[in-house]
Amino acid sequence: MVIYMCSVGESYGVDIDDDIPTKKYMCNKCGNKFKGMGRNVSCPGCQSKDVNEQK
Ligand SMILES: [Zn+2]
Repeated sequence: MVIYMCSVGESYGVDIDDDIPTKKYMCNKCGNKFKGMGRNVSCPGCQSKDVNEQK
């Protein structure tokens, strides 16, 4: 049995509803791509706030 520990993807355990305005971000520090909301978005991978919003 193989357990994938990858935190990137849809199987993160959090269902992001379309009702919630989320934006896509990419971390400038580690290159992690993630969805975030609000003003103070920080990277879930390295906790850096040095993130870019993706258009
Ligand atoms: Zn990061």
